[in-house]
Amino acid sequence: MRTNNQARHILIKTYGCQMNVYDTEIMQRTLFPIGYKAATSEKKADIILINTCAIREKAEQKVFSYLGRLALLKQNRPELIIGVCGCIAQNIGKKLIQRSPCVDFVVGTHAIFQLPSILDDMYRGKNTKKVFTNFNEFINEIDLVNSPVIDSKISGFVTIMRGCNNYCAYCVVPYVRGPEISRKAEDIINEIKQKIDKGMREVTLLGQNVNSYGKKEGMISFVDLLAQVNQIEKLKRIRFTTSHPKDLNTDLINAFGNLEKLCTHIHLPVQSGSDKILKRMNRKYSRSDYLKKIRDLKKRCPTISISSDFIVGFPGETDEDFEESLSLIKEVEYDSLFAFQYSDREIAPAAKYSPKVDEKIKRQRLIQLLDVQSKNTVKRNLSCVGNHYSVLVEGKSKKESDQWTGRTSGNKIVNFVAPDNKKNLTALLVDVKIEKACAHSLRGYLCPTK
Ligand code: SAM
Ligand code: SF4
Repeated sequence: MRTNNQARHILIKTYGCQMNVYDTEIMQRTLFPIGYKAATSEKKADIILINTCAIREKAEQKVFSYLGRLALLKQNRPELIIGVCGCIAQNIGKKLIQRSPCVDFVVGTHAIFQLPSILDDMYRGKNTKKVFTNFNEFINEIDLVNSPVIDSKISGFVTIMRGCNNYCAYCVVPYVRGPEISRKAEDIINEIKQKIDKGMREVTLLGQNVNSYGKKEGMISFVDLLAQVNQIEKLKRIRFTTSHPKDLNTDLINAFGNLEKLCTHIHLPVQSGSDKILKRMNRKYSRSDYLKKIRDLKKRCPTISISSDFIVGFPGETDEDFEESLSLIKEVEYDSLFAFQYSDREIAPAAKYSPKVDEKIKRQRLIQLLDVQSKNTVKRNLSCVGNHYSVLVEGKSKKESDQWTGRTSGNKIVNFVAPDNKKNLTALLVDVKIEKACAHSLRGYLCPTK
């Protein structure tokens, strides 16, 4: 242990998706065992690391406005170290330091594993280099597996692959996270077991396109990986995200129903209901391909919950194209969805596509789309009332202390009361009868387990 780090407190601020949440965990797992400690606020931090997201312009603006606040803090405390990590760091590298001179160093998506030596060199005054954005062909996952899991929530993440080879026309991910690299199955299984020892009972396997997992000689397929994870003792549930519709195969569809721990929920982002727009987006499937997969999923697993991502206002999207997104939403009857206004990303090809859709129209389409979906959500949630669900309890509800909170296998949040409020239900799978459907959650009461 390096004693010189013992007094140094690090605050890691995380923006963006689950992948970034997981990367923050990697930073903690590599830095805390060598003496760094967690800071509880900016004021108490010696080092602030920002794990950034570059997916949309808004996400980038949030980071720069936070950096603006940190610049003021650094004026009074010049010894404060500020590092920018993750997707924006990878995307714009040294331009970031030019734009925000309070930043001491920039660490891209593949270089986060080097943070211990980067910080060490910085404190010894050896750091002449400030930008670490090289891609490695193989990210050194060995380091990661050797660093102990610090703690785990009841429901935790484990990354099974990094990067993306799909090059959707609007997306920065292939450029900022590099090509697909799958982790070895045994490393994934070991990490899940370590997290189970720290209390995890539900794992979400992460990747930009998990169905591409293992597409390399000598590796097992994603469905075989699921089967191995399904055998892990004490693990109660398995989820995964995200699956690309073009690669959703029969084996994975059949896994719903074959693997008892696999949750009955799939996030299957479609992005648009118009074939013309899907083609321009380079999604490599048609509306009818997508709908066929949805039908197959529902046939295989009639109780499956389905969620999706949509982009509104992609260049060239007409009113008619947008109507096709709305009709798709009505046809699929999603349980929930995420919708985004298209945002130009300089590095992605669609930035050069025209005609651009007016910002006001994008906003109107977003509101209209969410309104159509809210009717589906109400309908889907109401259909749960009166039924019993197995709920994995995550703890006491933050809003109402007499209630417990957890999720159904279909990923619906359930708040419920129990007759004996003193008994700790955390991490248990319990039977809850639903009595009320709210806009984004369900309410019910605990029933004796049969
Ligand atoms: N890999 C996943 C897939 O293929 O569906 C999605 C990953 S991305 C981090 C999450 C979502 O952000 C996408 O599904 C898309 O809806 C949205 N997104 C990506 N680039 C965008 C852009 N330039 N403008 C608006 N939304 C975008
Ligand atoms: Fe981006 Fe498309 Fe890859 Fe998803 S599949 S990360 S949207 S390029």
